[in-house]
Amino acid sequence: RDPSHEGDIHRFPPDIDMSVPSIARTYDAILGGKDNFEPDRAAARVFADSIPKVRECAWENREALIRGVQYLSRVAGVDQFLDIGSGLPTERNTHEAAQEINPEARVVYVDNDPIVLAHGRALLATNNTTSVVTADLRDPHAILTAPEAKRMLDFDRPIALMIVGILMHISDTEEPNRLIGELVDALPSGSYLFITSWPDTGDPAQKSLERAAVQTLGNGWARPVDDLLAHFVGLDLVPPGLQYIAQWFPETPEVPVPDFEDMEPFQRTQMAGIAYKP
Ligand code: SAM
Repeated sequence: RDPSHEGDIHRFPPDIDMSVPSIARTYDAILGGKDNFEPDRAAARVFADSIPKVRECAWENREALIRGVQYLSRVAGVDQFLDIGSGLPTERNTHEAAQEINPEARVVYVDNDPIVLAHGRALLATNNTTSVVTADLRDPHAILTAPEAKRMLDFDRPIALMIVGILMHISDTEEPNRLIGELVDALPSGSYLFITSWPDTGDPAQKSLERAAVQTLGNGWARPVDDLLAHFVGLDLVPPGLQYIAQWFPETPEVPVPDFEDMEPFQRTQMAGIAYKP
């Protein structure tokens, strides 16, 4: 904990509620970041008590995000990214991973937590190929018509739509697949859809993660694998399909891929996949 950092609180817009945990700040606390407040750290402790190695779990998701962006840049040749539920900036972010491979790559970050914009602005002040938009996945029209999205992205050329680590926070009644479908419909042929989320195969670690999320954040649901596959709205997945993150490598893995039986409990809680729009 860095008390000097909390002196920065007055910099934040008034619509940031620091009295309850937010998803973005709790995730930051779990990752070991500094952009969080006591209620977020308390929530992170509930996660840590529920899931051994929860920090490794969060970093595993981040590493999948980077692997996915590298595949999309290097192999798929995509140079436009719409990253929804982008979270607070951390060690390595979508625009950094993409621009390492293609300095011209453009990234629009979208998050419904205004704290992401507050931090993103500072990070991106010097980067004119990256923007941050405050908008909600539950309002695809607002995302697609946001001036920054329209300015930064050419909707006549392939776009990678990233919905990474967020769908578990969207309830069934909010119809995640309808929302994804609306976004995918706006993308041209040759675009990609990159998702990570929480599977429910009956494994106790999956249940523990779900319980911790619902208790602290009020949402965060694991879903049957068929439901996760349905998030891809009928698009074909690129190899290796939808897999546990420890086993998911769209490019040649640098490390041996573990068998399911050898995976630690936390490694059974997250899956990743990328699909292609023909
Ligand atoms: N995508 C990043 C990653 O995978 O490392 C961050 C994931 S973090 C667990 C989830 C992010 O989604 C948070 O920053 C949260 O504010 C955002 N989020 C949650 N619900 C959202 C919604 N309905 N619309 C937009 N963003 C949302």
